[in-house]
Amino acid sequence: MRIVIATIFPEMVSAVREYGVIGQAVKNRVLQIEVLNFRDFTKDKHRVVDDYPYGGGPGMVMKPEPFFGIHDYCTERYGKPFTILTSPQGIKFDNRMAKELSQKENILIFCGRYEGVDERVMKIVDTEISIGDYVLSGGELAAMVICDAVSRFVPNVVEEDSVKRDSFYNELLDYPHYTRPAEFAGIKVPQVLLSGDHEKIELYRVAESLKRTALRRPDLFLKRDFSEQEKKALIWLIRELTSNAQ
Ligand code: SAM
Repeated sequence: MRIVIATIFPEMVSAVREYGVIGQAVKNRVLQIEVLNFRDFTKDKHRVVDDYPYGGGPGMVMKPEPFFGIHDYCTERYGKPFTILTSPQGIKFDNRMAKELSQKENILIFCGRYEGVDERVMKIVDTEISIGDYVLSGGELAAMVICDAVSRFVPNVVEEDSVKRDSFYNELLDYPHYTRPAEFAGIKVPQVLLSGDHEKIELYRVAESLKRTALRRPDLFLKRDFSEQEKKALIWLIRELTSNAQ
């Protein structure tokens, strides 16, 4: 998969392809992340990417030409990209959307700045994505969030079993994790994790995942169609709770 991010701050965005599992995947060419500078797609001497808004008002607006230029550049080189405009007015980004986007071969993400982007850019945009109900100074952080979350679903970027156990993959929150030492700050690792009984450990993890989801995200818990293993885990959890209460 290839993700192209278009920005006026390429150094800022480049960090997304330099660290951790994503950095490794880029090195191994499992994933291509390219960062383009809008200024390289301007035609004037001063490489201007913004201008005053028609009708007046505060701030500047990003000019449309560099957006179309980058879209053409990507289309000619890699085929027509699925094009995203980062925007607080877009559809709210979530794990499901990240997974869907990971099926695309070729994504282009535009980072807005200033008061926003000339509306005519919408002609080449497939979807507008927001990372939350707040306003950022630019689309770079949003593009990095989208790029990271999407990349995790690309095969061989992160171990498949690990992705499947992450929060939201299965509309549940992840279970708690522990590492050595077995006791720290007077807190012991739950005995079951030291038992070596894999079936019990799995049941405990499913139960903990359900418990966390019920407590922190009742919206997800209440609409859940529980699997047989989850029902077993819930009964186990209720037994644990009632035996502790007695
Ligand atoms: N005037 C615009 C509005 O109220 O909708 C906000 C412009 S904002 C200062 C500049 C750029 O930051 C936007 O064009 C967009 O690319 C990006 N941005 C800001 N908030 C965002 C969010 N919540 N999600 C995604 N992108 C965002």
